Amino acid sequence: MKIQAINGFKDILPETVGRWQFIEQQARDIFERFGFQEIRMPILEKTELFVRSIGEATDVVEKEMYTFVDKGITMRPEATASVMRAFIEHGLHVQQPVQRLYTIGPMFRHERPQKGRLRQFHQLDAEIIGASEPRIDAELIAMGKMLLDELGLNVSLELNSLGCPVCRPPFKERLVLFLEQRQEALCDDCKRRTRTNPLRVLDCKKPSCRAVVQEAPSLLEVLCPDCDRHFAEVRTALEELRIPFQINRFMVRGLDYYTRTTFEFLTANLGAQAAVGAGGRYDGLIEQLGGPPLSGIGFAMGLERLALLMEQQDNRSIPAKDMDIFVAALGTTTIAFAGQLTHALRQQGAKAAIDYSGRSLKAQLKQAGRINARFALIVGEDEWSKGEAILRDMQTQKQQPVALSGSTEELARRLLAMVRTTAAP
Ligand code: ATP
Ligand code: MG
Repeated sequence: MKIQAINGFKDILPETVGRWQFIEQQARDIFERFGFQEIRMPILEKTELFVRSIGEATDVVEKEMYTFVDKGITMRPEATASVMRAFIEHGLHVQQPVQRLYTIGPMFRHERPQKGRLRQFHQLDAEIIGASEPRIDAELIAMGKMLLDELGLNVSLELNSLGCPVCRPPFKERLVLFLEQRQEALCDDCKRRTRTNPLRVLDCKKPSCRAVVQEAPSLLEVLCPDCDRHFAEVRTALEELRIPFQINRFMVRGLDYYTRTTFEFLTANLGAQAAVGAGGRYDGLIEQLGGPPLSGIGFAMGLERLALLMEQQDNRSIPAKDMDIFVAALGTTTIAFAGQLTHALRQQGAKAAIDYSGRSLKAQLKQAGRINARFALIVGEDEWSKGEAILRDMQTQKQQPVALSGSTEELARRLLAMVRTTAAP
């Protein structure tokens, strides 16, 4: 019996990993332009951390977490809670009152696997802690948009405000009243959510529930003056940065800690998995986790969805991997020399390959072509005994003799210089 990977857990094969690396490099580059620093946290955290931050009555905590029940630990389902835990634990705000942090890594949720939905998936996550100005919200959103633009992805941006502990509770009560009068029309999940998490009913994807909430009261109309002003200023700041957006009063993020600004980057090209990235403000979270009363805002993007979209849109060419030089050793006597030379080439920084099999020249040149080597150094027994080898440009098929004089290091340097100057860019 062959052992296969677990359902919902996926290998990322060499042929696609180039796209992943490209996305990660673009992200690091852009995040650093905005002054972000990387942070890496463990995958396992105390279960309590996620229950207290994400919230007991959320889908993630209720049914999606991978928890070791006997040990009280959980494989992180998202990054924000862990970043906040680390931030508080190490008192990061003491060194630097405003922290801009990003992290890239795997997350785990027990969901039904589909295209763009896995049980181990990967997120790019960015957080700004300790700043509450609306322009910060706009700047963070603009950073996400910049990344999506540079990846060549066409996404729309939806924006909402979830209010704060002043204006949300009275709205919730009104919403519960509204929903209680329409229980018949709601799905089973939403019947339950009416009591446990009424806001979540607003973004249920079932058509029957959608029809009901069209008539529901809008939180945007009853925001407190502070939240209302904040939301207006975020919109203005986005307009100033020329970031197009749409207001979606039904958007409720699946995590309880959000306050005020929430947003999603959406695509029409991944079926039901429309959210490429999402985020929002979480002003009470750090205090709730035992830290200082600092505000924060962040987003997370799904790497699988970004990679799928890039593959579909195919409008951003990712440079193919190539090798500088392939050392073709012919006969048995040349192998030791060719091995030393290849090692020296690699020490000099060349991407060099070698075949120890002693196969025919034809077979070795074929291999050089397969790995996209730009040059092949052919070390034949006769030439080698005369202190010579042949450098072949794999593209033009032009060949030139190379004197094998001097130390291996000198030779490697000389070869590399030839390869670098002759190579077409
Ligand atoms: P969805 O509505 O698709 O379930 P979500 O609201 O649960 O998304 P978040 O928790 O906000 O998602 O995570 C942010 C991003 O992480 C999503 O926009 C998506 O790109 C990605 N993501 C979330 N869950 C998964 C998953 N199971 N598989 C792949 N990517 C995921
Ligand atoms: Mg989800």
